[in-house]
Amino acid sequence: MTYDVVVIGAGIHGAGVAQAAAAAGYCTLLLEQYDRPAQGTSSKSSKLIHGGLRYLESAQFGLVRECLVERRRLLENAPQLVKLVPFHIPVYRNTRRRPWQIRLGLSLYALLGGKGFQKIPERDWNTLDGLRNDGLDAVFRYYDAQTDDALLTQAVLASAQSLGAEIRYGCELQQARCEGNACILNCHTQGKSEEIHTCTLVNAAGPWVNTVAARIQPAPEQLDIDLVQGTHLVLPGQLQHGMYYLEAPQDQRAVFAMPWQDNILLGTTEFLYQGDPGEVTPRQEETDYLLTVWNHYFKNKMGADDIIDSFAGLRVLPRSRGKAFHRTRETLLHIDTTRCPRVLSIYGGKLTSYRSTAEKIIRQLQPLLPTRTPCANTQTQALEAPQQSQRGR
Ligand SMILES: Cc1cc2nc3c(=O)[nH]c(=O)nc-3n(C[C@H](O)[C@H](O)[C@H](O)COP(=O)(O)OP(=O)(O)OC[C@H]3O[C@@H](n4cnc5c(N)ncnc54)[C@H](O)[C@@H]3O)c2cc1C
Repeated sequence: MTYDVVVIGAGIHGAGVAQAAAAAGYCTLLLEQYDRPAQGTSSKSSKLIHGGLRYLESAQFGLVRECLVERRRLLENAPQLVKLVPFHIPVYRNTRRRPWQIRLGLSLYALLGGKGFQKIPERDWNTLDGLRNDGLDAVFRYYDAQTDDALLTQAVLASAQSLGAEIRYGCELQQARCEGNACILNCHTQGKSEEIHTCTLVNAAGPWVNTVAARIQPAPEQLDIDLVQGTHLVLPGQLQHGMYYLEAPQDQRAVFAMPWQDNILLGTTEFLYQGDPGEVTPRQEETDYLLTVWNHYFKNKMGADDIIDSFAGLRVLPRSRGKAFHRTRETLLHIDTTRCPRVLSIYGGKLTSYRSTAEKIIRQLQPLLPTRTPCANTQTQALEAPQQSQRGR
């Protein structure tokens, strides 16, 4: 048989594309090299479903708007998995962004689709989870959403399956030859080789995107990318009041402190990574950086011995000389040819906007796909929290 769409990768993007393809009625297969979903970046993110307040500083208004629309849909379609939480932004005398700038940013964020915001009265500052209040000028509260990225990925995969998509774990794409009317894939499952035929191929391999692209013939042009690692620490304690959006004293980057599974999640960092994406691990300098941020802002000091867990994920960013923090977070969809694309590779992207990205991909592949009858609409498709937690981490 020949599939309409084969997707490589069971991260959030692969899951989203499989769901969108199956919803559109296409005969869909997803292949994942590991024996479980969300083993790449999609279990190592900051777990925020957000518009990205900080992208307003780099005027990425379209991205913020799109992500806020997707946030609203996820809050409606996956209420067990995506929850609105309060975020606090403390502004100190020596932080770079001034209260008027935060107020302006939050007003714009609300206009683009975020909820409203408040300034917290000074008398309540003492109640804020041990936040240092000497030199504190103002604290703002606004709302964004949090999820469990690995569980969200599983829920989207389950939805794709319920709409008819097939998923195979432990199955690695080795080679693909795309010519004439189809692609012939060569895949390995437990050392056994198998041939799969498909009309179109979606490379949703996250940080492995160029490794997979290099296995396709004729070779699609590969985008020049950097893999930028981001580490999170899990620290003991509870943040009763929600999230804290902190400005790292070392370089003024945004760092989040969040409640996470009865502990605190702190992240993230940005370090250029070269090596096998499957082997990325937190570095000592990242741990030091994050602990410095925590100890700068909170009264309960923490050291390396307090760390319960840590993990690192890889962002795929277009290569440039600029700092990673300021590079675009738009998702780049790269096609093998502008007329009737057969192979499409996803570069970068956000957990939050996986669904809209997936729909764009299916629209781009449509000219080569047979006519099918849609069976669902991903805009309104409910996502159930998985019963059996198969945590990515
Ligand atoms: C530190 C960090 C924090 C982030 N925080 C947020 C956030 O808070 N909110 C947000 O919206 N976004 C966030 N992002 C972005 C978001 O997490 C990623 O864009 C998203 O998870 C990428 O998913 P993916 O499916 O493209 O890749 P991945 O999740 O990495 O999945 C790729 C999959 O492809 C598989 N694969 C690779 N090669 C093969 C092969 N040859 N055969 C078969 N399978 C293969 C891999 O095993 C893997 O499972 C963050 C990213 C990072 C790095």
